Amino acid sequence: MEKNVKKIIAISEPSITQKEIDYVTDAVTSGWVSSLGKYINLFEEGFANYCGTKYAVSTSNGTTGLHLSLVALGITAQDEVIVPDLTFIATANAVKYIGAKVVVVDIDEDTLCMNPIALEAAITDRTKAIIPVHLYGHPADMIEINRIAEKYHLFVIEDAAEAHGAEINGRRVGSFGDLGVFSFYGNKIMTSGEGGMITTNDINLYERLKYLRDHAMSMEKRYWHTEIGYNYRMTNLQAALGLAQLERIDELTLKKREIFNWYYENLKDTPQVKLNFEKKNVKNAFWLPCIELLGYSEKNRDLLLVNLKEIGIDGRPYFYPISDMPMFEDVETKIAHLVSHRGISLPSHFNLDKNNVDFICSELKKLL
Ligand SMILES: *Cc1c(COP(=O)(O)O)cnc(C)c1O
Repeated sequence: MEKNVKKIIAISEPSITQKEIDYVTDAVTSGWVSSLGKYINLFEEGFANYCGTKYAVSTSNGTTGLHLSLVALGITAQDEVIVPDLTFIATANAVKYIGAKVVVVDIDEDTLCMNPIALEAAITDRTKAIIPVHLYGHPADMIEINRIAEKYHLFVIEDAAEAHGAEINGRRVGSFGDLGVFSFYGNKIMTSGEGGMITTNDINLYERLKYLRDHAMSMEKRYWHTEIGYNYRMTNLQAALGLAQLERIDELTLKKREIFNWYYENLKDTPQVKLNFEKKNVKNAFWLPCIELLGYSEKNRDLLLVNLKEIGIDGRPYFYPISDMPMFEDVETKIAHLVSHRGISLPSHFNLDKNNVDFICSELKKLL
């Protein structure tokens, strides 16, 4: 009857197996439903181990993880923090929560990550920290960014929300900056429902993050507080889900790579599109397939997304430049503006198979 009613192929869907169900069931039946319980420690230790850092502190989500990181580093309203212009809004909002100035810089056309030359040019006497973002799974140039940070004595917070398992020279992201921040939102590479994690090798930062996360309550004297803290804790329920996903992380990251390869095989000879890049000596986490429609205007890109949706294929536009949003200073970053308006991401959920991707690509090619 209604022949147009089709199941939409979603952009993302988590991969939930019996392991996730068992761990969450165990957590909820144990009665440890809030932020005490065995899964928190297991998840934190396991995640630090996975990233190759000494410590990890779980948070209620990635955004609170970014905010807490800035607080722990002592960033104040007098400071400037440099972020790439193309990123999810949370990267910049966390800086605003501090009251510090958000300074946006342009990105690299291939990796879509912060351009180190633009970064160095934006440094002032007030600059205190840099937040490179491993956008859509490709690591930012941490070697160069760390070199610049050292030269100017700046803190580095990696926003690794989209890049679990990504590597530079065999070393995992989250281990390059003073702090690394991950998200476990439902559409990320691994999920805990909502959730975040901060990785670090610095014991003082580790202790300070744990303290600030729990209302800055004195370790010696309960209900005694000497500064303003936060309730940014993860729950044991979230950690149970997160731990189950972490134990399957190799499977999850391999699937993301496999899905990207299916897109690549289908689209590599299509001249109108540019696909995700993977720099030499780097492992892209391929969070989402990134497809830039060369020569497309924003309007034509949006029309293509509408047409795909009608066929039952969900797509999403690239992020908009932070500097275009009314809360931030207007900056004409050339590359961020160029790619933002022509980029889309297509389905890469964990239950996708090759036939789905072949179908998506053949429909996309018809529309180009
Ligand atoms: C998802 C995301 C965040 C925020 O994480 P939440 O867990 O959703 O708060 C921050 N930065 C980037 C780049 C993200 O993609």
